[in-house]
Amino acid sequence: MRVGARIGTDDSELKDLAYLYVTCDDCGHQGWWSRARLNQAEHKGFRSLQSLGSKFKCRRCVDRGGSGRNVSIRPVLREDAEQVGGGR
Ligand SMILES: [Zn+2]
Repeated sequence: MRVGARIGTDDSELKDLAYLYVTCDDCGHQGWWSRARLNQAEHKGFRSLQSLGSKFKCRRCVDRGGSGRNVSIRPVLREDAEQVGGGR
């Protein structure tokens, strides 16, 4: 029995994230993914940081002829983001 067509994100690691920092270990270029971009990734079927991590490339390094694949991702959870903003 199917209950509606609700998009299932319950099994997704990404749903707990507020945003995601991306740092290139080669050139030091930093970027971040907003919640909106994470939502888009979820819609495309990404469910884990591991699968999403394979998607990241440093554009600056690619432009220089490198692989651009030496990037680190640092997830920031929703609850952590709230603590930083709210204090106690
Ligand atoms: Zn780079």
